[in-house]
Amino acid sequence: MTSSLRAAPALVATFGDVLLRHQAAIRRLQWAMVALYVVLLTVPLLLPLPTHTDYAWNNVVRFAQFVFWGVWWPFIILATALVGRFWCGILCPEGALSEFASQHGAGRAIPGWMKWSGWPVVSFVSTTVYGQLTSIYQYPKPAALLLGGSTFAAIVIGARYGKAKRVWCRFLCPVNGVFATVSKIAPLHFRVDPDSWRPGNQQQGRSSAVNCAPLIPIKTMQGAAACHMCGRCSGYRGAIRLSWRNPASDIVHGSGRLATMGETVLIVPVLLGLVPAALHWSDSGLFQMIRLWLVERCLDLHLIWPLSLRLPWWVLTDYPLENDVMTLVDAVALLILLSVSVVAATIVFGIPLAACVRILRMRERPLHHLTQALIPLAAACLFSGLLSLTVSQLRSDGVVIPCLDLFRGSLVLAAAAWSAVLVLRIGALYNGRLAARMGATFIMFLPIAAFSIIWIVAFLG
Ligand code: SF4
Repeated sequence: MTSSLRAAPALVATFGDVLLRHQAAIRRLQWAMVALYVVLLTVPLLLPLPTHTDYAWNNVVRFAQFVFWGVWWPFIILATALVGRFWCGILCPEGALSEFASQHGAGRAIPGWMKWSGWPVVSFVSTTVYGQLTSIYQYPKPAALLLGGSTFAAIVIGARYGKAKRVWCRFLCPVNGVFATVSKIAPLHFRVDPDSWRPGNQQQGRSSAVNCAPLIPIKTMQGAAACHMCGRCSGYRGAIRLSWRNPASDIVHGSGRLATMGETVLIVPVLLGLVPAALHWSDSGLFQMIRLWLVERCLDLHLIWPLSLRLPWWVLTDYPLENDVMTLVDAVALLILLSVSVVAATIVFGIPLAACVRILRMRERPLHHLTQALIPLAAACLFSGLLSLTVSQLRSDGVVIPCLDLFRGSLVLAAAAWSAVLVLRIGALYNGRLAARMGATFIMFLPIAAFSIIWIVAFLG
């Protein structure tokens, strides 16, 4: 074993081996998660909607709502940033079902269209927008449709393609791109020692074949973005170990250097543009302005139907008894707001990024590598925004967590500072002149600081 592997804390490596030895127990845990998931998704469909006297602790619908959107979604993002994608490999019911279906399925070859690098962006954007149009956070029916539909698709894809693989998770899962991006800052990863594969340099360790369900070529694995942290390759040929790493190393020196256009699009227009607007549109003054403007245009043109037409709940929110109906005008106003936010983020971050590329005279994949510096900010923005769901649900149950907003604000500011430092460190790889690096960092600091302050004001407001 090489010195670098020997230096990895034994406890962490042992935990990787524990995962390997307890795959059967992990499988049982996954089936328990599947059962819980099915119950939380289906039982609320059979019950009436909660009233203002129902709480998460005495009403199943509210409880399921709180588990899915107040706990599950924000804390998976947090866990992915802190320890990598253990959720995917150990607990995710959708991944487990897809792999199970694949184990017993047709085992066909993966078609070329499925490998298109744009799927992570397209699937995440479409599910996010659809979720907002149907009020997925408030009502069980759209939650069951979107989450259940995704799980059904995962099973179908599993049953058709690959053998005991997670083809769905690797190529089509709507949150795969987000998890892969956020996991780049995790301080844990399965480290591959490339020296161990060289002829004549084989190390001690088991050599039986590894079934890497998300189809990673483990010999050449870079970073932890695609790894589901399932532990099946732990100790393989003495070359793979669960290890600590510097949380910036993957972005600066690892897979960040190979970043693609798809990742850049996911970080800037989507995570820093679409997501903040999607999480806060109902409180947005701009949304009200757009909506009012549209209403006035409709009235000017004597068009009443866009203001009154009701569409089924699976197209637009339609719960008249709850006094919650989304009209066509509301929907168009929301889509305009989301588009404005996407364009604004692209301009606000895109122009400084392009300026930095020129200042630093970067040549190879420059923009995409530099954009990776924004991952901490994007991850903090996503987590703190999702915490709004937790906060609002707890508040409606009469529970107020002290200092939570202070925590969220501090987290965003710390992430912003980290992103600025990463710009400096990535710049150092491409340009030896300190003045150029400092200039580039200052240029990127401006949008990073502006975004952070606006975001903090938004969720405090
Ligand atoms: S590389 Fe594959 S087998 Fe190894 S931990 Fe990651 S997902 Fe599991």
